[in-house]
Amino acid sequence: MPETTTCDLAVIGAGPGGYAAAFLAADRGLQVALIDAQAKPGGICLHAGCIPSKALLHAAHVIGQAKDAAAWGLSFPAPKIDLDTLRARKDKIVDTMANHLAELCKRRKVTWLSSRARFEDSSSLLLDNGQRVTFKHAIVATGSSPIRLPALDLDSPRLLDSTAALKLDKVPESLLVIGGGYIGLEMGTVYASLGSKVTVVELTGTLLPGVDPDLVRPLHQRLEPLFRKIHLNTKVAKLTEVQGGVKATLEGEELEEKEVTCGSVLMAVGRRPNSRDLGLEKTKAQVDERGFIKIDERRRTADATIYAIGDVAGEPMLAHKAAHEGKVAVQALLGEPAAWDPRAIPAVVFTDPEIAWCGLTESEAKKQKREVQVARFHWLASGRAATLGRTDGVTKIIVDPESDRLLGIGIAGAGAGEWIAEGVLALEMGATARDLAMTIHPHPTLTETLMEAAESLHGLATHLYKVRQSS
Ligand code: FAD
Ligand code: NAD
Repeated sequence: MPETTTCDLAVIGAGPGGYAAAFLAADRGLQVALIDAQAKPGGICLHAGCIPSKALLHAAHVIGQAKDAAAWGLSFPAPKIDLDTLRARKDKIVDTMANHLAELCKRRKVTWLSSRARFEDSSSLLLDNGQRVTFKHAIVATGSSPIRLPALDLDSPRLLDSTAALKLDKVPESLLVIGGGYIGLEMGTVYASLGSKVTVVELTGTLLPGVDPDLVRPLHQRLEPLFRKIHLNTKVAKLTEVQGGVKATLEGEELEEKEVTCGSVLMAVGRRPNSRDLGLEKTKAQVDERGFIKIDERRRTADATIYAIGDVAGEPMLAHKAAHEGKVAVQALLGEPAAWDPRAIPAVVFTDPEIAWCGLTESEAKKQKREVQVARFHWLASGRAATLGRTDGVTKIIVDPESDRLLGIGIAGAGAGEWIAEGVLALEMGATARDLAMTIHPHPTLTETLMEAAESLHGLATHLYKVRQSS
């Protein structure tokens, strides 16, 4: 007979969605088992996503700032990069945080089980280590994995996914990045800053497709000199291992080069939900055509005992969305009137400049043929941006013309990700552009650009002059 753990709630997957759910459930008095195939909690976010990538991006930003300092008369020699120390520092950050999560499990008396789990039916799981877990409710929080394009699936250590790239085994002399999305640009920035000649190949006509073009522009301009080449509207048709590298055959119109040979290739063309090999077919839970587990607004699957949250349950695949969903699911299974109904989910691309947005985008409004007012404040007119030497930013608000209600906020500029939260709060509180304009913002800070964007909606921004029509 396998050893059996009996619990109120079994959470499968200990990423930001899973552990947020497990901890809240334990705080609310449930007996919880948190199960993950990895040795320590944290999920992709902590072990191979948000945290290690941001640690490496911090190093990249320091290198960039040291270069920029020359314009202030402060010249530093080129950095000596000790890869072992950099890697160890990143790993230590991850390990410390993972140990802290393990400690939080202990203190909350959450049973931590390190093994892969599969459903046997709607009330039990069988783990790879032979244990059985029986539950009243389960939350599936198994996350997502990198997409590998079969046509480009080279059996070679030179072909990296984000997990391998984050290990930072070495900095290749040259790196081809397939996909100009979040991972391609963040990891491209890391490797280019550490010395790789980075070529980005993006299938669509823009970097970060779906993000408003005026927000992408300042980033594209800054990446052009950092990267060796950015190919838009281009496809990698074939990868061939050659001596000392990988040769990529490119396809696209008006291509300046048809082949590129690089030391390594990073495939960053999106992620797919981890819903396979979970035994879901032994329950009533269903998946959609893309593999996302189907859920309702309470995050419940078609099986009344099973909930699903995070990357495995739909886009956007972001850690804070997973964590918030985890809390909704726990409240829902406790019988409370909770539902997933956010007005705004922030998104941040941690490049330099950062791009951050929330709520309705201008592109989405156009697609919906929805009439909106848009006001922009370019950072050339911001005192704080000038003192930072970073006037290459823009802040914009998207507003409902009838009610003056804020519908969306977008920021492209240094550090944007730190204060997009003000926009999220404004949207959640149903603030109007006038509210934002009347809120006293500290001077000199970049947050003033939000206030001035709101003022400029009515032609009244202090640091912008608008020629008035004579009546
Ligand atoms: P995950 O964090 O993916 O965790 C799922 C866990 O489930 C894993 O630990 C896995 O081992 C476990 N698991 C899977 N199947 C089983 C099974 N059958 N049995 C037991 N355990 C199982 N998002 C942001 O918001 N900000 C960022 O800056 C950011 N940066 C990123 C950078 C990179 C390189 C990547 C790859 C992703 C990044 N993301 C970022 C996305 C973010 O990591 C995910 O949205 C987030 O981790 C999803 O959380 P989750 O709880 O759904 O699952
Ligand atoms: P992505 O969806 O952000 O970008 C993939 C890019 O690859 C797109 O621009 C797409 O057009 C392009 N593409 C697709 N097929 C291609 C092909 N054959 N050739 C060339 N380009 C191709 O996906 P990602 O960068 O892999 O990241 C996955 C997800 O992880 C993100 O969508 C995001 O949800 C999450 N993430 C978030 C952060 C963050 O919050 N800062 C960072 C990294 C990852």
